[in-house]
Amino acid sequence: MKILLLPGDGIGPEIVAATHTVLAAADARFNLSLQFSQADIGFAALKTHGTTIPDPVIAAAKSVAGVVLGPVSHNAYPPVAQGGRNPSGVLRRELELYANIRPARGRPGVPRPIAAPLDMIVVRENLEGFYADRNMFAGAGEFMPEPGVALALRKVTAKASKRIAEAAFDLAQARPALRVAAVHKANVMRMSDGLFLDEVRAVAARYPQIRYEEVLVDAAAALMVRDPARFDVIVTTNMFGDILSDLAAEMAGGLGLGASLNLGPDFAVAQAQHGSAPDLADTDRANPTALIGSAAMLLRHLGAADAAAAIETAIDTALLSPNTRTPDLGGQIGTHAFAHHLARLISEV
Ligand code: ATP
Repeated sequence: MKILLLPGDGIGPEIVAATHTVLAAADARFNLSLQFSQADIGFAALKTHGTTIPDPVIAAAKSVAGVVLGPVSHNAYPPVAQGGRNPSGVLRRELELYANIRPARGRPGVPRPIAAPLDMIVVRENLEGFYADRNMFAGAGEFMPEPGVALALRKVTAKASKRIAEAAFDLAQARPALRVAAVHKANVMRMSDGLFLDEVRAVAARYPQIRYEEVLVDAAAALMVRDPARFDVIVTTNMFGDILSDLAAEMAGGLGLGASLNLGPDFAVAQAQHGSAPDLADTDRANPTALIGSAAMLLRHLGAADAAAAIETAIDTALLSPNTRTPDLGGQIGTHAFAHHLARLISEV
């Protein structure tokens, strides 16, 4: 299986190297025949290719079984005309990665703001909503019709709502809780979230064994803190999913733990939920768990369930003790040493 590694910006090169170390250990232990390649994106690519995501990288991403995408500092990029495209957005669009699967669960020993049971997955629509492709709207998803007035367009389609709902119900079906909550704001955004809910309800009707509920996004945020065990699989639109999944990641112990998998009909891209944390770049202090967990999700998606489980168990084992945690979780060891510790645990399975 071919895997493309894209280091990205900030802490990206360090956490992608850590992920490579862990994947290589899983490969050796489980005979996965992984073949790794690597390409520059972000500021490194801007310097050498004049764009933060060169076309050959997009082509390479389409030619492999899976991609490990490092975080990118797209807010700091120059304008698009000067090569500053957001590689994450471009890959989501070019590879039609319509689903972003973002699990969050409490892990033994890891300090959390609230100790209540937590094991949920936010299934986030990845291509529409307020973050829709700006070209859809003649060059502007946001615009200023007059000075002092800014408008943003929110795109919701039946097709995207249906397929994100199907992704969520398929996931829920494989989990013991058998529950899906659709999170929305249809009381205000009647047309767009109304359409979203219509499609989710139609899918829900095909899964009678799954308990289905609808929760307003503001209530969902409050409930996630008050009673996180209430949620199992959450399906929602792009921006609500972006926000709620960060909340869930913090509830699980911190942004450094938030794994995610971008999925489309043909491609899969592992990507940490967090950004490039430029404050920590080149300090060996970044927590690579989120990206390593994302890579485990990628392996599971590619059929290597044993290897994925071994990586997840190794993460749980390492995080049990502060001695084998990175500084964000009150530990002492660096990014590099943490990855090698995981690799050792995997080789001993
Ligand atoms: P960007 O501009 O790319 O979004 P950011 O720093 O604004 O980057 P994040 O990277 O998502 O946003 O995270 C905010 C803060 O959380 C970081 O500055 C860092 O201190 C902390 N953080 C995020 N990810 C990690 C990680 N993997 N390990 C340790 N700390 C992290």
